[in-house]
Amino acid sequence: MGRPHRIRHIEKFPDFTYFRPHGDTFQKGFEVILTVAEFEAMRLKHHEGKTQIECAELMNISQPTFSRVLDLAHKKIAEALIHGKAIRIAGGSIGIKKFFFGYGCLNCMNEWEDKQASEINKESLVCPECKSKNVYFLKKDLLQQMP
Ligand SMILES: [Zn+2]
Repeated sequence: MGRPHRIRHIEKFPDFTYFRPHGDTFQKGFEVILTVAEFEAMRLKHHEGKTQIECAELMNISQPTFSRVLDLAHKKIAEALIHGKAIRIAGGSIGIKKFFFGYGCLNCMNEWEDKQASEINKESLVCPECKSKNVYFLKKDLLQQMP
């Protein structure tokens, strides 16, 4: 066993997770599995056109690791195209980034979400728990881990 796998950050789970060759000759189960991280690497690099440095940073991995992940994605897709295999996108240890906007209370440490939250809007606010006016604007990244 190697080192424990570092969680790869992704922005969004893919909308389409299964592709297969057209026609009747296709054999069920004849497929390659692309991890969600490999999909995300391709999306960031080739669809969003980001640099490897930016991609690696966004996915919370080193640049050499990013390069390996991207290379693996290319190899798997080439394999599928050449041999008529289906492509299934699944698995890998990933965390989906979520942005939390809301407020926090300095009096009772309560935190609550509000999509319209801002520094300006907080002026007229009171904490829903303790009614304190000692409220601050809170913005943070949450990581929702996938099994
Ligand atoms: Zn409070």
